[in-house]
Amino acid sequence: MNRSAVWHPFTQHALEPAMQSIARTGGAHLETADGRRILDAISSWWVVTHGHRHPAIVEAIRKTADSLDQIIFAGLTHEPAERLANALLGLAPSGLDWVFYSDSGSTSVEVALKMALGYFRNIGAPRSRIVAMEHSYHGDTIGTMSVGARGVFNAAYEPLLFEVDTIPFPAAGREQETLDRFEEVSRDRSTAALIVEPLVLGAGGMLMYPAWVLAELRKITEAYGTLLIADEVMTGWGRTGTLFACEQASVSPDILCTSKGLTGGAIPLAATLATDAIFQAHYSVDRKKTFFHSSSYTANPIACAAALANAEIWRDEPVTERIAALSARQAAGLRRFRDNPFFTDSRATGTIAALDLRTDSAGYLAEIGPKLRAFFLERGLLVRPLGNVLYLLPPYCITRNELDGLYDAIEEAGERFGSRP
Ligand code: PLP
Repeated sequence: MNRSAVWHPFTQHALEPAMQSIARTGGAHLETADGRRILDAISSWWVVTHGHRHPAIVEAIRKTADSLDQIIFAGLTHEPAERLANALLGLAPSGLDWVFYSDSGSTSVEVALKMALGYFRNIGAPRSRIVAMEHSYHGDTIGTMSVGARGVFNAAYEPLLFEVDTIPFPAAGREQETLDRFEEVSRDRSTAALIVEPLVLGAGGMLMYPAWVLAELRKITEAYGTLLIADEVMTGWGRTGTLFACEQASVSPDILCTSKGLTGGAIPLAATLATDAIFQAHYSVDRKKTFFHSSSYTANPIACAAALANAEIWRDEPVTERIAALSARQAAGLRRFRDNPFFTDSRATGTIAALDLRTDSAGYLAEIGPKLRAFFLERGLLVRPLGNVLYLLPPYCITRNELDGLYDAIEEAGERFGSRP
């Protein structure tokens, strides 16, 4: 075979010259071209919820492709998009009334930011500041990098990023600092929106905070007329134990972003849900008030049908019970590490579990990351640490034995790579 011409994401090709080729997927597994099975402990970047190639989703894709492909979504509509919008509004926190489609988590957040600024401009009281949380990750486009934490992922593009106000991460015991800082930056009423990852900050290190903090942040947004954007791209579709993480705080945001698990991980799609007030601010005979955003593949019918099949799986299968069982197993798995000297912290929220390996150097670029990845891959396990942070974010169909095997391997990794206290 000639050399590969494919440039991979978040991949340093100089250090990863050879790449495994995956020929098949199914359930919690990937299978290489030469027949090796790999347990997908991270749901292939957090997208696969029920397991790879759930038959109902595969069937929906097949069936829809027989009658529909992409149609321009400005001025035209189709049944899968209409039905999916109603399904989403039925599942999402109450108070959200409109669904805007796009095709990735990043675009769903870009759309949210534009909606927020458009709202204030269109009601004649412009606000332009965005407040974001320390350590957040919202995507890799210029806007989403701007509202994300500054660091190694975006250092090269810093000159293009816009300024945001940052509130501290509400670490245990320091929650009030976060709330006080948010109140302080809200006072001059120039803040259009607070954007947060509810309960779990993903790529920033699987950092977790309690639901009451989100509820308190919500109260502050309400007090100052600031919009709340819940970026549920990672946390949505059961990851934190409830369908959306906001539910645990009884919070209904003004804007909610969803992608990843929206199609059960089969095909790209995203949606930004918004309140009627935000829609009405854009609803006018004045064409300048139009929401000027689109992407060519907006509301792809095949992707919408896959997402509808996903919603039906939630309705027809015991997904909630599966999530509860997996969450309990994750919590039990972590208990093994309470007194393990090679780990400095372990935490779980719903189906997401994370452990901090004791190492001399931390951070995304810590050399330990690729070493750990190779260690797990040799054992047929796909784990992709964030520096020294090991996390498990598996499909809900993972078995008890498979999860136990992962925790055994993590224990072994601790002994092999962890520093002694
Ligand atoms: N927001 C959050 C919270 C995410 O975790 C991610 C991706 O990991 C994104 C946005 C960006 O999504 P995508 O990679 O689909 O653009």
